[in-house]
Order: sequence, then structure tokens, then C-alpha cells
Amino acid sequence: MQQVKHLLEAKGKGAYSVAPDAPVIDAIRVMAEKNVGALVVIKGSELVGIVSERDYARKVILKDRSSRDTPVADIMTASVVTVAPDATVDECMRLCTDSRFRHLPVLDNGRVIGMISIGDLVKATISEQKETINQLESYIAG
Ligand code: AMP
Repeated sequence: MQQVKHLLEAKGKGAYSVAPDAPVIDAIRVMAEKNVGALVVIKGSELVGIVSERDYARKVILKDRSSRDTPVADIMTASVVTVAPDATVDECMRLCTDSRFRHLPVLDNGRVIGMISIGDLVKATISEQKETINQLESYIAG
């Protein structure tokens, strides 16, 4: 069973971040430039939240707020669910499905070392299933 650390080895370590007092427009700009759907919110070196495109859609656009005058802290989720590098793909899938979000920051010794998205998890699951099918096919073919 693949673990989060294997996924990070493949996609590269590190997570795109924003400060809590930055305006929301800065966060959206980074998400667009880096082609990601969420950023970790870091104050000093501490993880204080997560902000995703959904927060922007629901808490800025729908509420007619200004993305230049609203700080990230006002729309982020402060109680972040994180995973350790040895968490399995299945465990992460379960967390995302049960909690209805698509991103999991990876914490090692209290520091963010990466971000796993539901897309990474789906990709890993499909490749594992493909491998199992190949093994079963060659077993059946004898
Ligand atoms: P997402 O599906 O990742 O775009 O996020 C949906 C909602 O869940 C947003 O309000 C995010 O701030 C929040 N969220 C995303 N990932 C996490 C996480 N790992 N822990 C807690 N909240 C999260």
C-alpha cells in the first residue's frame, strides 16, 4: 500500500502558501499561477489554516466581499486536518471523503512538507488497481 511519502517523492515536496494577513486576491493569484486549488496558510513557520477556491467562491463572491480588502484569515479554515508522511493512500481517501474536502497538508515534526490533493490520491489508487489487475491476469494466464 502506497504511503503519502511515496506520493511526495513522485510529485515533489513543498506546499504553496500564503500569510493570514495577505489579501484574498494574492491567494487566488498564487492558486492560478501554480495551478492548485488550495494553499496552506502559514504564520511565521506555523500552519494556521487552509484556504481553497471553495472558500473564495462561498465567502467572498457569494457575499459580495472585496478580494482586495478581505484578508485570507477571514475566509480560511483554521482547524486543519493533516496527515503524517506514513499515512496510506486509503486513509487519506477516507479522510477526504468523510470530511468532504480535497486537500491534505502533510506534516513532519510540526512542519508542512507537502500537500496531497484528491487528484493525487485518485491517480495513486488507479495505478495500484492497474498493477493488481496485471498481476491477476498473468496469474490466470499461468
Ligand atoms: P476543498 O474541497 O479542498 O476545496 O475545500 C473545501 C472546504 O474544506 C474549504 O472550506 C477548505 O478551507 C476546507 N478544507 C480543505 N482541506 C482541508 C483540510 N485538510 N482540513 C480542514 N479543512 C479543509
